[in-house]
Amino acid sequence: MKVIAIGGVALSMSAVSKLKRLNNKIDIVVYEKGEVLSYGACGMPYFISDEIKDANRLVARTKEQFGDLGIEVKVKHEVIKVYDRSKEVEILNLETNEVFLDSYDKLIIGTGASAIVPPWKNADLKNIFKLSVYEDSIEIKKEIDKGDIKKVTVIGAGFIGLEMVEAFLTRGLDVTLIQLDPQILSIFDAELTIPIEEHLKSKGVHLLLEEKVVGFEGNTIVDKVITDKGEYETDLVLVSIGVKPNTKFLESSNIKLSKNGAVEVNQFMETNILNVYSGGDCAMIYNLALKENSYLPMGSNANKQGRVIAENISGNRFKFNGVLGTIVIKIVDMEAAMTGINEKTAIAKNIKHKAVTVTGKNHAGYYPNAQPITVKVIYEPNTFIILGAEMVGYKDTALRINVFAVSIQNEMTTNDLGYLDLAYAPPFAGVWDVIHVAVNNAK
Ligand SMILES: Cc1cc2nc3c(=O)[nH]c(=O)nc-3n(C[C@H](O)[C@H](O)[C@H](O)COP(=O)(O)OP(=O)(O)OC[C@H]3O[C@@H](n4cnc5c(N)ncnc54)[C@H](O)[C@@H]3O)c2cc1C
Repeated sequence: MKVIAIGGVALSMSAVSKLKRLNNKIDIVVYEKGEVLSYGACGMPYFISDEIKDANRLVARTKEQFGDLGIEVKVKHEVIKVYDRSKEVEILNLETNEVFLDSYDKLIIGTGASAIVPPWKNADLKNIFKLSVYEDSIEIKKEIDKGDIKKVTVIGAGFIGLEMVEAFLTRGLDVTLIQLDPQILSIFDAELTIPIEEHLKSKGVHLLLEEKVVGFEGNTIVDKVITDKGEYETDLVLVSIGVKPNTKFLESSNIKLSKNGAVEVNQFMETNILNVYSGGDCAMIYNLALKENSYLPMGSNANKQGRVIAENISGNRFKFNGVLGTIVIKIVDMEAAMTGINEKTAIAKNIKHKAVTVTGKNHAGYYPNAQPITVKVIYEPNTFIILGAEMVGYKDTALRINVFAVSIQNEMTTNDLGYLDLAYAPPFAGVWDVIHVAVNNAK
C-alpha cells in the first residue's frame, strides 16, 4: 500500500509516524511546500520573545530522522492538484519548477491554514508580518534582533495576537493592539475578558477596541497604521485576524469542502471520497458540545486526528469522539481558558441554559500570594448537566479547565462535580476549590 500525505507538520506527521508504527510495510511519501517540518508552531511566540533561543528546539524531527523511520519526505514540493478519480496528485517542485504526478492508494490532506491578510491599502510594505509558519517566526525575530524596532502594532486580539503582544512586551517594545470587536478574545463571553484588558493596559499596551484597520503608510517600510478612527506610528505590524484553510488546490477535485473552505470529514476522518482522509487546520472536526462539525484549528486537535487517520488507514476502524473546543492562553501574568459551550454560543444557537459566575482564589486565602480566579459555568437548567466553562485569573487558572472538559465529556451534573474529590492542600487550592464553589452555586 502507498500513502501520500500532503503537508508536513502536526496532522500529517502524527498520522504517518503512527502509521509506520502500526504497519512498517506501508510506503509513505510526504510532500511539504516549506523547508521545515514537524515543528511546534505553538512555540513560535516564545521563540520571538527570546524565551526559546534556538528555533531548532521547535523541531520535533527532521527530514533525515523521518527517513530513518522509512518515511520519505520531500520538502519544497507543493501539491497543486488532486485527481481523486485516478488517485493521483500533481506536484510542483518549488526548486526546479518541475511538475509531476504521483499516485496513491490512500491520501492524507494535512495542509493546515494561513493567516488572513485582507486587501488593505499598502499591505505589501516591508515589516508587515503574519505568523503562520516557521519561516515567519524567523523573519520577525531577525527584524527585532536588528534593534531598530521600537513600536509594534498587533492587529487582532485573538490567541495568536495576544501571545504576540506578550512576546513583544517581553522584548521591551511599545505595543499597540487594534481589535475590530468591542472586546479582546471574541470567542469568550465579554465580561470575562475585562480583567485581561485592564491587565494589558496596566502593562502599557495601547488597546484600541472597535477600530477598523483600513491600510498602512510608508515608503518601502511601514511607518503608520491607518484605521477608521486614527493613524498610529509603527515600526512593525503583526496581522493576526484569523486563519483560512489551505484548500484552494482542492477546488477542482470532488472533495467536499465546507462553507469556509475546510475539508468536510466524518468521525473516522474520512472525506466524502473513498481513501482520502483529512484533519488538522485544513479540516472540520466533530464538536462534541454542539453535536455538529465545527472549525477549531488547534494543534491539540490535529495531533489526535492524525492518529485516528493512521488507525483507520491501517484497518482498525477507529471512531474519534470529537472535541469540546478546549483552549488555554497565557497573557503576560494572566491565564484564560474555556471548554464546551459559553453563554454567547448558547444564545446564538438557541440552547436552553443557565449560567453562574463566581470569583475565588487559586489556593487557600491564608497561604501567601493567593490570587483571584473567575469561573463561569454554563449548564442545562432542568438536568444541571454541565455544558461549558470559562476561567480567567492568574497562576494555576488555565489547567483547571481540564476538570470541566472531563465533566462535560462524561455528561456530569453540577452536583456530581460539586462533590468531586478534587485534590486539596493550602498551596494548591482551597478546601472547596473554586471549581466546587462555582458549580455548587448553580441554582
Ligand atoms: C503562533 C501560533 C501559536 C499557536 N498556539 C497554539 C496553542 O497554544 N495550542 C494549540 O492547540 N494550537 C496552537 N496553534 C495552532 C497549531 O499550531 C495548529 O493547529 C497546528 O499546527 C495544525 O497542524 P496542521 O498539520 O493541520 O497544519 P500546519 O501546522 O499549518 O501544517 C500544514 C503544512 O502544510 C503545508 N502545505 C500547505 N499547503 C500545501 C500544499 N499544497 N502542498 C504541500 N504542503 C502544503 C504548509 O507549508 C504547512 O507546513 C498555534 C498556531 C500558531 C501559528
